[in-house]
Amino acid sequence: MAKSIIIVGGGTAGWMTAAYLARMLATSTPGGARITVVESEDFGIIGVGEGTFPSIRKTLGRIGLAEADLIRSANATFKQGIAFVNWRSTGSAGPDRYFHPFQIADQGSGLDLLPYWLAGAASGQDWASASNVQMRVADAYRAPKLITHPEYAGPLNYAYHFDAVAFAGLLRSRAIEQGVTHVFDTIDNVTMAPTGEIESLVGRKTGRLTADLYVDCTGFRAQLIGQAMGVPFKSFKSQLFTNRAVAIQVPYDDPAAPIPSYTKAVAQTNGWIWDIGLQERRGTGYVYSSDHTSDEAAEACLRTYIGHAADDLPSRILKFEAGYREVQWKKNCVAVGLSAGFIEPLEATGIGFAEIAGVILAALFPWSDQCDSGAEQFNAQMRERYAHVIDFIKLHYCVSNRRDTDFWLDNINPGSISDGLRDRLEQWKYRAPSFIDVDLKHDIFTEHNWQYVLYGMGYKTILGDRIAALRYFDEARAEFQEIQKQAEYALTIMPEHRSLVELVRRQG
Ligand code: FAD
Repeated sequence: MAKSIIIVGGGTAGWMTAAYLARMLATSTPGGARITVVESEDFGIIGVGEGTFPSIRKTLGRIGLAEADLIRSANATFKQGIAFVNWRSTGSAGPDRYFHPFQIADQGSGLDLLPYWLAGAASGQDWASASNVQMRVADAYRAPKLITHPEYAGPLNYAYHFDAVAFAGLLRSRAIEQGVTHVFDTIDNVTMAPTGEIESLVGRKTGRLTADLYVDCTGFRAQLIGQAMGVPFKSFKSQLFTNRAVAIQVPYDDPAAPIPSYTKAVAQTNGWIWDIGLQERRGTGYVYSSDHTSDEAAEACLRTYIGHAADDLPSRILKFEAGYREVQWKKNCVAVGLSAGFIEPLEATGIGFAEIAGVILAALFPWSDQCDSGAEQFNAQMRERYAHVIDFIKLHYCVSNRRDTDFWLDNINPGSISDGLRDRLEQWKYRAPSFIDVDLKHDIFTEHNWQYVLYGMGYKTILGDRIAALRYFDEARAEFQEIQKQAEYALTIMPEHRSLVELVRRQG
């Protein structure tokens, strides 16, 4: 008999999982898994989550959503990375800005350029701009692709910024087209079998609902995995202190203004501000620690950052805690999205985690009667990923030289840094992060990401005697010059970002 799945929750996680599973588990075909999404009208979706990671392109392609539809219907723009401002130190004489591009360092000549860069072969350029063209393209308000490139592909790696509510709506339409059943109802109760499985859900309007597998996409409520099944949440607030955000959406003064194709992450006294350019507005928010500042002070800081444009605009406060559930699939219940865990929005990993969970769930889907056959593997894979992302996010805070407030001082307290990260930071004093530091099967961030952030933050790696072994200095220098030539060329051919977005919209 066909397997049945009920997904509770109609946010990005719920609808993305529904649309993905519908494609992968052949919902529209007889014998495929039957999927129902139950979405409450009483509780809205979180409505933030506007920045993504390049993996989203593959996910949306597999879901069968056209890139042009995303641009048209979700207010979407292209994202080529993150510009970090004021993270290195306070009151530094020079510009305090570095770029974390999605494009990996150029490897055209087969030469590992990083040691040569560390040894000074790139004439004082920072690592991101010396090693590939993307920063210069993004800084010139250029797009990562031409209109003639196929959907979800281009010469430069990219993701998107979009309106979270519109995105969930788009995924919903796609999932329903794929045969997913949609029910508006609030689940008031979850009944449990004596064996510890979910027996049924009780909807306020629909009454008793049953399925072979239940997917908890209820966001921070975690109604199934947390409240009903009692799976604990493991907090990492002792490492990552931010636990609130105040968000304001800001319309453009000039609707034709150029749109940056990167997220701006601007460090503040007690956290950082995100600034994201959509087609018709900016999304901004101050992510802060409530142990270090008040909601009022945080909001005042965000309003000062935005300026007069924020004067009459409403704000929203969101509360969270860094952490995740070590068990995300228990018996016949799988948690995906915020119910499974959340780190913090720096580096925009929230939607990425939901994507990965959907992909692994489809691969391990229990077609047999044993509903938790894939649980152990799923849990192990997700645990690893969360743990590694926590270290990567912590890196941004703990290598900073900001000492202006307790927030930044607490962040360099060795007790707030995992043993693994401390050990690697010690090693990276004498060697650069490399493939041996990452697990390609589990890591969202590869050595390239670690390198961009570490060296963007001004971390010093001493090559010592290794300098004598760098025998291809001239080739490396020529390669760095070649990358600059390629950047000049890219600036002549890549379209202006807003123009490309508008062209895609018009072509519909
Ligand atoms: P929600 O959007 O909260 O959806 C929960 C759903 O469950 C809703 O439809 C609700 O109605 C339903 N529901 C709840 N209880 C019931 C019930 N009893 N019965 C029926 N339905 C129910 N991620 C990124 O990738 N990039 C970012 O830039 C980013 N920024 C963020 C900034 C902040 C401040 C925060 C807090 C998060 C951010 N995230 C970001 C995370 C991102 O928002 C989420 O990962 C993503 O939106 C998925 O949320 P969700 O679907 O799990 O939960």
